[in-house]
Amino acid sequence: MKKYLRIPAPIEAIQWDGIHWDEVCEFAGSKVTGDVETCKLDPKRMPVIVHTQHGDVRAEIGDWIAKDAVGEFYPIAKDVFEKTYREVDAPIRGAKKGESLPYEQAAEQAAVMGWACRRCGRFYANFDGAEHLARMCCSDDHPCERKCGNRAPQRYTICPSCRNVDQAKVWDKMEAVDWDGKAPIAVWQDDTYFFSIDDLNEYIEEHEISNLDELSLVLCRPNRLPKLDLFEYLGGLLPEGVERLPDGYLEVEKAFDEYVKAHQPWCWVPDNKKIKIESLKALGIEPYVRKQDE
Ligand SMILES: [Zn+2]
Ligand SMILES: [Zn+2]
Repeated sequence: MKKYLRIPAPIEAIQWDGIHWDEVCEFAGSKVTGDVETCKLDPKRMPVIVHTQHGDVRAEIGDWIAKDAVGEFYPIAKDVFEKTYREVDAPIRGAKKGESLPYEQAAEQAAVMGWACRRCGRFYANFDGAEHLARMCCSDDHPCERKCGNRAPQRYTICPSCRNVDQAKVWDKMEAVDWDGKAPIAVWQDDTYFFSIDDLNEYIEEHEISNLDELSLVLCRPNRLPKLDLFEYLGGLLPEGVERLPDGYLEVEKAFDEYVKAHQPWCWVPDNKKIKIESLKALGIEPYVRKQDE
């Protein structure tokens, strides 16, 4: 036979202390009435009548009045409540100071509340934001953080249209420069590079770019290697007191730097400078035109 464990379901509850009737009423409203008849006999011991789904049930002083997830109210006897419920987020009951704590009594089973991802099962113990993190864990999409009403795909905080708006702003602000037809250029935020006018013309043809404005081209800048500093590189490995590397090492350092200098640039990276369309036109670059017989 398989075994089953009841899934913990939080409830809200208030203890009837015989004094704070207002708080009980605020909590349970018309679902409770005071037992006035009993109260006449002993004003300090008025039980509460809880109108449950299954009829009226008395809650004596010390008992708890609970509200479940669907909003139903019912009383729970004091001793049952103490054995069965623990305040969410409350630290696990500690041993009293000075109390001896033998092995057999030194631990108790605890139910941990939290949020779990429904795809990978990763558990986020109760803390502020745990629910959000668990939902974000493996969800395919989620509401755009700009609260625009659209959905953002996994791993993005904002939706594609908010992203487009942001990108257009960045593009508008970017410095515009002419292209000389020689310096490497690239499609903005795309790993497509052009090292010549021919490269670019080929791309326009292949992708049928009929409007040169569609090409968001940026100038590239050389990415140079830093000067080699062997002393710095060897740092912690050098014996104490060594303040200068032996000549042989310095020669290697010099040779390396000379090699790098002679073979610059190491590579090109897109710069934040957009290419003026007019400069493309000046170089004779034309948009794609669909041929008549196609
Ligand atoms: Zn997950
Ligand atoms: Zn959005």
